[in-house]
Amino acid sequence: MEPPAQTQPEPGIEQKLEPTPDLGEFTYRGTGRLTGRKALITGADSGIGAAVAIAFAREGADIALSYMPEEETDARRIASLVQDAGRIAVMIPGDIGNAEHCRSAVERAVSELNGLDILVNNAGKQLYCDNLEDLSDEQFDQTMRTNVYAMFWLTKAALPHMVAGSTIINTTSIQAYSPAPILVDYATSKSAINTFTKALAQQLGPKGIRVNAVAPGPVWTALQVSGGQPPEKLPEFGKSTPLGRAGQPAELAPAYVFLASAESSFVAGETLGVTGGKIIP
Ligand code: NAD
Ligand code: MG
Repeated sequence: MEPPAQTQPEPGIEQKLEPTPDLGEFTYRGTGRLTGRKALITGADSGIGAAVAIAFAREGADIALSYMPEEETDARRIASLVQDAGRIAVMIPGDIGNAEHCRSAVERAVSELNGLDILVNNAGKQLYCDNLEDLSDEQFDQTMRTNVYAMFWLTKAALPHMVAGSTIINTTSIQAYSPAPILVDYATSKSAINTFTKALAQQLGPKGIRVNAVAPGPVWTALQVSGGQPPEKLPEFGKSTPLGRAGQPAELAPAYVFLASAESSFVAGETLGVTGGKIIP
């Protein structure tokens, strides 16, 4: 179904999206690939992060969900799905653009999950802007804080708790390779995520901690209707991919399960594209 033009204030509320995305609620079946693991996922209330939370829980992991306070209703829905899978869900609202919040989010995850061995840096800010002259200093700063600084702060706080076998997965974007003219700040932040991922994989490989990234192409989520795209472009969103459509968050989750689990034990510093056929190098 072609989504109608629509708009919401930031951060979008997923349950108000039309149509609501498929997070795999009714389809994802786990096979015990993450039994007993403990994961902190940012942006876990909706979209890709929520699909990852559902999949990880059904694979046997306990989950700490990071999200913004305005997203409480979306987050509660995902936390119940985690609990329905028989796993622990820890709710951690707050702004990850704040270093102190990042440190306390990790501390809460560690104490309430009794450890931490998977970190998914997935939260993101994307606000389109046609002209660089109109891109406010404040927006540039917030995009970098949410997409880049938070990844640094959360990873730094998580590392002392991680041992060999732990994994870190960062959400980058096709935008790191094929930047849209209206997403200069966002695309720049995503290429920083790529290089951070590759560099940190070199540093942590000797400790047995693997760092990888997933690069989604266009995926139908609240991010896109809350300033991520011009509203009139939404009916066409994703149609330029070789597969001719936007992806659903449920189609992203298996890539994260692969990178989080021992199935990817020899994969590090890799970027796994899930783009509908758009080429990533
Ligand atoms: P989404 O809106 O459902 O998820 C993004 C989440 O980021 C929000 O739910 C929110 O909880 C979190 N977030 C944003 N700012 C925050 C802050 N300051 N503090 C705490 N949390 C904050 O959208 P999504 O598309 O699932 O986005 C997930 C990731 O996927 C993002 O990194 C995004 O850049 C990336 N991505 C999305 C697409 C796409 O087409 N949807 C494509 C490529 C990459
Ligand atoms: Mg959300």
